[in-house]
Amino acid sequence: MPRRGEGPIDLPHPGDTDGVAKSDAKHELKGLVKELADQQERLYADHHHAVLVILQGMDASGKDGTVRHVLSGVNPQGVHVHSFKEPTPLEHAEDFLWRVHDAVPPKGCIGVFNRSHYEDVLVVRVHDLVPERVWRPRFRAINDFERMLTESGVVILKFFLHISKEEQAKRFAKRIKDERRHWKFSAADLRERELWDSYREAYADVLRECSTDWAPWHVVPADHKWYRSLVVARHLAKALKDLDLHYPAVPEE
Ligand code: ATP
Ligand code: MG
Repeated sequence: MPRRGEGPIDLPHPGDTDGVAKSDAKHELKGLVKELADQQERLYADHHHAVLVILQGMDASGKDGTVRHVLSGVNPQGVHVHSFKEPTPLEHAEDFLWRVHDAVPPKGCIGVFNRSHYEDVLVVRVHDLVPERVWRPRFRAINDFERMLTESGVVILKFFLHISKEEQAKRFAKRIKDERRHWKFSAADLRERELWDSYREAYADVLRECSTDWAPWHVVPADHKWYRSLVVARHLAKALKDLDLHYPAVPEE
């Protein structure tokens, strides 16, 4: 990712697979899922760090699917998944990070944010829910907040699941046709799709303004679900490995 405040950003193609074959990806993912289960146990035993995975992307970009495929092997007690919806009246009455801070995983756990505080500079901006003088300073507030979390032992991994508009259309069509997927679709999704370009612009600013040394964004080509899951799993496994977690020594007695 470019440094903060720098020029236009170069996104990978949503259909990228970096030359990886689907069968190889599935095999590698299987191994990574096992590795993640083992690493999560160490994370819990060590109890000094938490890992926070932030998933953002347009509707049908695969946020739910990523949770299902990447974290399927991890002890459910060690994973906290939190989906951020429209703020309740109570949440509205507080600052925008209030509900977010409360959902940060405790030490020893992996937390997943399905949508996040970034909605407060995305949907809020695109729909003009607050003026620019309110949402613009949030980039700085977010960077400060994430720095504070990092300094408190939270490792933050942010993934933008990057799908093409064509792939979204295909996934919507599937949701409309297949009665088992129908519930996932709402007319609101179509209205959001019409705002694709505004979201693009808002996401570009998020990636530019909030890619920090302590919490960088990873742009994940997400048109191929198997590749998307592989990329996220690789980053997560690497982050856990880099923590060099060990089981605590058994006391003498
Ligand atoms: P699915 O893919 O299953 O539909 P979803 O994340 O889209 O999952 P929904 O209940 O459809 O879940 O949508 C949640 C909605 O809440 C989104 O439209 C999102 O933009 C909105 N939202 C989340 N945070 C905020 C916020 N801070 N302010 C306004 N709207 C928000
Ligand atoms: Mg939705």
